[in-house]
Amino acid sequence: MSNQPDTKKVIQQHTEMAEFFSGGLAVKTDTPAPQSPQQIAPRVASPETIKELEDISQQTRQCRKCELGALRTNAVPGEGNPAARIMFVGEGPGADEDAQARPFVGRAGQLLDRIIAACGLKRQDVWIGNILKCRPTDNRDPKPEEIIACLPYLQRQIELINPEIIVALGAHAAKTLLDSPKAIGQLRGLFHEYQPGIGKKFIKLMPTFHPAYLLRNYSDDNRRKVWEDMKKVLAELGLPVPQGTKK
Ligand code: URA
Repeated sequence: MSNQPDTKKVIQQHTEMAEFFSGGLAVKTDTPAPQSPQQIAPRVASPETIKELEDISQQTRQCRKCELGALRTNAVPGEGNPAARIMFVGEGPGADEDAQARPFVGRAGQLLDRIIAACGLKRQDVWIGNILKCRPTDNRDPKPEEIIACLPYLQRQIELINPEIIVALGAHAAKTLLDSPKAIGQLRGLFHEYQPGIGKKFIKLMPTFHPAYLLRNYSDDNRRKVWEDMKKVLAELGLPVPQGTKK
C-alpha cells in the first residue's frame, strides 16, 4: 500500500503549522476570513464590570500583600476585552512587563501575539493576564505564598469577565487554576474545568505550553501541540479554524 496520503497529510500539517506560528501571515488562498466581530465578542461588559476591573487594577498597583510589591517597578494587572470569550493566563510578569506595566510584551509576548493573530483574533479581542501581578525577581518561579496572596485578584477578574474558555499558559497557570499537581505535558491538549466558586458554573480551561517554554524548546513537535490546542479552543467556541493552503 502507498503511504502517499500520510505524506501529504504530514506536509499539509507542517505548512499549516508554519503559517500558524507566522501569525497567519503566510496564509494565502483558503484562509478563513477574519472572525466576525459578532463571533469574537458577542457580549458587552457592563459599566459596573468595567469599573470593578479598573478597581482591581488599582488595588494591584497598591498591593503589598507579598514581598514582590516592594520590588516591582510596576504591577501588571492584565488587560484586554472586559467581555472576552477567551482569557489567556500566564505565570507572572518578566522584566519587559514590569517596565511597561503590560502583560506579555517581551519575546514570549511577541510569540503569543502571533498565536493570537493566527487564530484570526487581535489582542484587544481577548484578555491577557497572569497568576502573579508583580515580577518575581530574577524571573524565578512564583513562591506558593505569592500565589496565595495574588490569586484572589485573578479569580475576581475571571468572575467578572466570565470567559467561555481560559487558556492556561504553562505549568504554573495550569496547576494553580486547576489545583492539580500534574505536569503540563499531562494536562495540555484536553479541556479541564475551572471552578470559579461554589455554586458557579465551571469554565472550560485548556492548558498549553507557555510561549517562553516554546521559545526555549522550539521543536516542530511542541509547536504542533500548541497549534492543536488552539485549534480545539477555536472549534469549541464555534470560530473558524485556520487551515493551511493547498499547495
Ligand atoms: N511570561 C508570563 O508568564 N507573563 C508575562 O506577562 C510575560 C511573560
